[in-house]
Amino acid sequence: MTTTIRYGNDMRILVVGGGIAGLTLAGLLEQRGFSPDVVEKSSNYGGLGYTLSLWPAGSNILKGLGKYDELLDNADQFEEYHVLDHDGTHLHGYDMGSLADEYGETYLIWRPNLVDVLQETISEENLRMGTTVTEIDQHSDEVDVTFTDGTTATYDLVVGADGIHSKVRDLVFGEVELTYHDMTGWAFWVDPSLATSGEVQEHWGAGRFAGLYPTEDKLACFLAATAPEGAPDPVDERLDRVRETFDDMGGLVPDILGEMDDPAEMWHDDFYDLHMDEWTKGRVVLIGDAGHAILPTGGVGASMAMESAAVLADELTRTDSKYLEQGLEHYVSRRRDRVDTVQKKSRRLGSFVMVQNHLLAELRDKSVKFYSQERMEEYFRDFLSSKI
Ligand SMILES: Cc1cc2nc3c(=O)[nH]c(=O)nc-3n(C[C@H](O)[C@H](O)[C@H](O)COP(=O)(O)OP(=O)(O)OC[C@H]3O[C@@H](n4cnc5c(N)ncnc54)[C@H](O)[C@@H]3O)c2cc1C
Repeated sequence: MTTTIRYGNDMRILVVGGGIAGLTLAGLLEQRGFSPDVVEKSSNYGGLGYTLSLWPAGSNILKGLGKYDELLDNADQFEEYHVLDHDGTHLHGYDMGSLADEYGETYLIWRPNLVDVLQETISEENLRMGTTVTEIDQHSDEVDVTFTDGTTATYDLVVGADGIHSKVRDLVFGEVELTYHDMTGWAFWVDPSLATSGEVQEHWGAGRFAGLYPTEDKLACFLAATAPEGAPDPVDERLDRVRETFDDMGGLVPDILGEMDDPAEMWHDDFYDLHMDEWTKGRVVLIGDAGHAILPTGGVGASMAMESAAVLADELTRTDSKYLEQGLEHYVSRRRDRVDTVQKKSRRLGSFVMVQNHLLAELRDKSVKFYSQERMEEYFRDFLSSKI
């Protein structure tokens, strides 16, 4: 008996999660003649979010997707990086221009805008909003999936691109522990006149952080503070909570606090990352935050999610339904070292930026003063130059 071998448009692929990784993967696959189904839990994408610094590792993928011009229309170039202390004293400024000359520009884009740009790369009929999976049953060479609307379908491959709290991961890999990094954060828009276009400014306090990120013609603020895991953040108490947490910080922080008005329009979440030894199980694979969430303070999770999507798309064009698991192994071997290295570096950076002890924070500030332009460039060089 001969088995039917499916490839290209005939390969039945389900992408769970229409975020950064899922839409990138689906867009690249459609471009290559596939027609993956995408299910997205939220009924509509909405505008709440935060700014992403999109490095060439991620933005170059938009060139291949024919969407680079749309990125430029929605983003601001990351030209200068300034670190200030708790009181607003300037510690160091870095010019991002030489890295841009060597490797390409980094852009600052509001996450919902990037999702909009990516959504244009897939066919409307392939995306089902307000839908997720409730069951995933793997057989020897197929996966049966049940959706929240009660429908079922059979696939050759299921991709979990459903973010850090992945349902696919729960259903297929069992309970996997996220690592909480004692941080919680808020994002919202502030008056653009607080910063200059192209300039990122971050205030580093003891266990507190306030960053300003120009994007398009607007200015986004991101605040982070040490907090116990799951500390409640009810909308009606949010403004008081944030003001109390940051009220002794100087520099631009009082102006930022004065800009908060509608707490329901503020994005909020606790910060976790995720290290997993396995990203595949049979015909199910995890990409992006679902398999390798990186701390937000690393500023690279979206670029890494897009990179993983690009590598997986590449491997899927060179396999078929029979040899799919080999293709997934190739995907893992191409991503493992790169992801692990970036994740470790991001953890180190996160603990450095968010150090809680006041004395250690002062020492950190002193070391930032002496952290040269060359060292900053060196820090990013292997991330920017690694082959993927
Ligand atoms: C405050 C903050 C700042 C950050 N800053 C940066 C930065 O500057 N640069 C950077 O590169 N990265 C940054 N990151 C990280 C970046 O946002 C993530 O790494 C990136 O969004 C991961 O993409 P993803 O597609 O894997 O997950 P997500 O972007 O989270 O997308 C997951 C999608 O799946 C959907 N979904 C969830 N559950 C289900 C389900 N059960 N079924 C179907 N769909 C589901 C979600 O609605 C969402 O659309 C930051 C993160 C945070 C929180």
